[in-house]
Amino acid sequence: MHSCDVVVVGAGAAGLFCAGIAGQRGRRVLLIDHAERLAEKIRISGGGRCNFTNREVTPAQFISGNPHYCRSALARYTPAHFIELVRRHGIAFHEKHRSQLFCDDSAEQIIRMLLAECAAGGVERWQPCSVSAVRQAGSGFELDTSRGTVQAGRVVVATGGLPVPKIGATDWGLRLARQFGHRVVEPRPALVPLTFDPEAWAPFAALAGLSLEVGIETGEGKKGTTRFVEDLLFTHRGLSGPAVLQISSYWQPGTAIRVALAPASLADTLRQAKGRTQRHLANELAQHLPERLAHTWLALQQLPADKPMPDVRDKDLAKLVDSLQRWSLQPTGTEGWRKAEVMAGGVDTRDLDSQGMGSKRVPGLHFIGEVVDVTGWLGGYNFQWAWASAAACAQAL
Ligand SMILES: Cc1cc2nc3c(=O)[nH]c(=O)nc-3n(C[C@H](O)[C@H](O)[C@H](O)COP(=O)(O)OP(=O)(O)OC[C@H]3O[C@@H](n4cnc5c(N)ncnc54)[C@H](O)[C@@H]3O)c2cc1C
Repeated sequence: MHSCDVVVVGAGAAGLFCAGIAGQRGRRVLLIDHAERLAEKIRISGGGRCNFTNREVTPAQFISGNPHYCRSALARYTPAHFIELVRRHGIAFHEKHRSQLFCDDSAEQIIRMLLAECAAGGVERWQPCSVSAVRQAGSGFELDTSRGTVQAGRVVVATGGLPVPKIGATDWGLRLARQFGHRVVEPRPALVPLTFDPEAWAPFAALAGLSLEVGIETGEGKKGTTRFVEDLLFTHRGLSGPAVLQISSYWQPGTAIRVALAPASLADTLRQAKGRTQRHLANELAQHLPERLAHTWLALQQLPADKPMPDVRDKDLAKLVDSLQRWSLQPTGTEGWRKAEVMAGGVDTRDLDSQGMGSKRVPGLHFIGEVVDVTGWLGGYNFQWAWASAAACAQAL
């Protein structure tokens, strides 16, 4: 029977990183993944350039049943640590807006870096290899795999979330958590486009491809409302773009989202325009919004698009600005696991310790990365959680 100190199940971002560190700390590590290809999610991330972290990471950018759970790991392994590693491996990168860091070249470089770290730690990798059963045996575990039974002192579950099943995502980690008596926060797709009733959407379908910066919010009351200022993208079926992906993680089915398509200052700007231009309302509005949106919006609001500005009633301007400021829409759902970037929910953090990501119910069993109920915003936060939770766990192995 094969025997080792640690089995890490899942050779994605968190699993590879954890295995490498644990190996370099002298543990005999076996890394197992059922997929044919290694680390597919890293490969496709950030449009192929992997937004591997964000310079500005705080616990506020993570959603969890216990918002404090991620605090310790994020503080101990920071973006600066990962950036240092990336530099050490000679990977060139650049900063995009909002402190997001991407490889100049390819996400493949991050995969090669993680593999090199594993090699430095003497990590053994079995891939493709599936695990059909895990049971406690003595003070450790026994795992039945497609390559035989393995004995290990510790098991680290790094099987990720449910998005994009066609590249190997499974609920294995969640099932294992339940098998050993852990609570699981119901998983749901996050960072995902929202869909709308096709009939209600028809008037906006012509705007497909149009993108603009908006304010977007959901929830009720001062405390319950979440707001982002990001780019919104109109699609044939609904809305997408960073604004919608971000708000989707907070959106509750059956509730509305509210979009401010124009700033509040537009009211004053248009009132002043009445005294200084003979432009038609549509043309004036197109100075401040994308032209296609200006025309579509005026038609939908039944406002006089071709009236010269001085003749437009104050009442109509107020109606126009109000409708642009408070566009309320009721999504019918999301594009689901196929299109989601991450999973919200996962192994309940009440059953895990925040120092070493270990189970409070089964000593020696650890959960890291996306399988845990910690979900980051768009912008490199989810990888930073994968690195930080993996590093915290590896120190405890
Ligand atoms: C299209 C897309 C783009 C993204 N872009 C970014 C980005 O730019 N920046 C960012 O921060 N985040 C991004 N994310 C999210 C990010 O990829 C994940 O949050 C991150 O990969 C999670 O790391 P993980 O190790 O927990 O899981 P994963 O990286 O998903 O790894 C899980 C591994 O477990 C394996 N596995 C699953 N089930 C089993 C099983 N039963 N047996 C054995 N192995 C199993 C899988 O094959 C996989 O290799 C993106 C996600 C998607 C889908």
